[in-house]
Amino acid sequence: MIILGIETSCDETSAAVVRDGRWVLSNVIRSQVDLHKRYGGIVPELASRRHVTTIIPTIDLAFEEAGVGPSDIDAVAVTEGPGLAGSLLVGINVAKTLAYVWEKPLIPVNHLEGHIYANWLTLPGQPEVEPPVFPLVCLIVSGGHTELILMRGHGDYALLGRTLDDAAGEAFDKGARVLGLGFPGGPAIQRASEQGRAGRYPLPRAWLGDSYDFSFSGLKTALLRTVEQYRRPVQSSRRSSSRQPFPEYEPPVYSANMPVADLAAEYQEAIVEVLVEKTARAARDFRASMVLLAGGVAANALLRRRLTEAVSVPVRYPPPILCTDNAAMIAGAAYFLYQRGVTAGLDLDVQAQLPLVTRTLIRAQA
Ligand code: ATP
Ligand code: MG
Ligand code: FE
Repeated sequence: MIILGIETSCDETSAAVVRDGRWVLSNVIRSQVDLHKRYGGIVPELASRRHVTTIIPTIDLAFEEAGVGPSDIDAVAVTEGPGLAGSLLVGINVAKTLAYVWEKPLIPVNHLEGHIYANWLTLPGQPEVEPPVFPLVCLIVSGGHTELILMRGHGDYALLGRTLDDAAGEAFDKGARVLGLGFPGGPAIQRASEQGRAGRYPLPRAWLGDSYDFSFSGLKTALLRTVEQYRRPVQSSRRSSSRQPFPEYEPPVYSANMPVADLAAEYQEAIVEVLVEKTARAARDFRASMVLLAGGVAANALLRRRLTEAVSVPVRYPPPILCTDNAAMIAGAAYFLYQRGVTAGLDLDVQAQLPLVTRTLIRAQA
């Protein structure tokens, strides 16, 4: 079964063609980082407008690279949520139109389910990825979510824990903003950390007792307090004119002796340590046969290494290009949804707050 996937939930415009939920034939990703960088974060209004102009050429290219055409595909899959409403709307309307015109089934996909199913995918020319084995524990760590999930089968999700405030990716992004390292923050902090050493300037970890929940907002505040002493007053150079629709990001200026690399390393260490400890404990408690990482932060090298060291069962994570937002993961998850009879009508609408576990939420007991 060949599925065209469309993903526009945030600031990546992406289209992909995937066979049987496992084989990526093409995966075209148009990042908008250049557009949002000067604002130090994503401007939703600009994101949706860019999706409008980019989505059709992106789909064309996905077909071209896969060497297939509309008549070769069996279904159209699209992210219905969660994400930015205006951004989601673009992908959903394009997907509905194509499904209608081409007379193909329309498959709605939860963006987080997409992140999980990136672990089932094999990229072109890469060694075959064996499908993960249940029961498994999956740590979703993305820009907007941090959720520890027990998965006993396809589509069977039990929530073990989640963040009480900031998501892990959000913590990376906010930390990078504080340190003046730019956007997106995860890759920037990882890079800066390579020149530094954790532990020299200790930052707190929120353990929250023996729960599987997470909290990262205290860490960000502690970082903010630490850097305050190095901060230099600045005369704004890029004063926003009244015609400027969105305020631009002005990086903070610090004295030259601020230990940026050491702070970045400690900040990264603090986030990774808590994620790893709780995930490893959940894997033991629930006798998982495997542990999966999913979402943009799954691209983090320290997280991958530490988790692999801490867990006795196999740890799996997608290649970096499939960790951050992409349409291959949407087309992949759609295959398994379609096996269970999930399709949508042309009344499909945006679900900006769509949770991963809608019908069968169980608070699993250790
Ligand atoms: P969500 O999936 O929750 O809707 P999103 O789609 O915006 O949010 P993703 O694209 O899955 O998030 O991930 C983006 C996040 O991943 C950003 O916060 C980014 O900083 C983080 N990230 C990307 N690469 C790395 C890395 N190497 N280390 C740490 N974080 C990273
Ligand atoms: Mg993004
Ligand atoms: Fe995402």
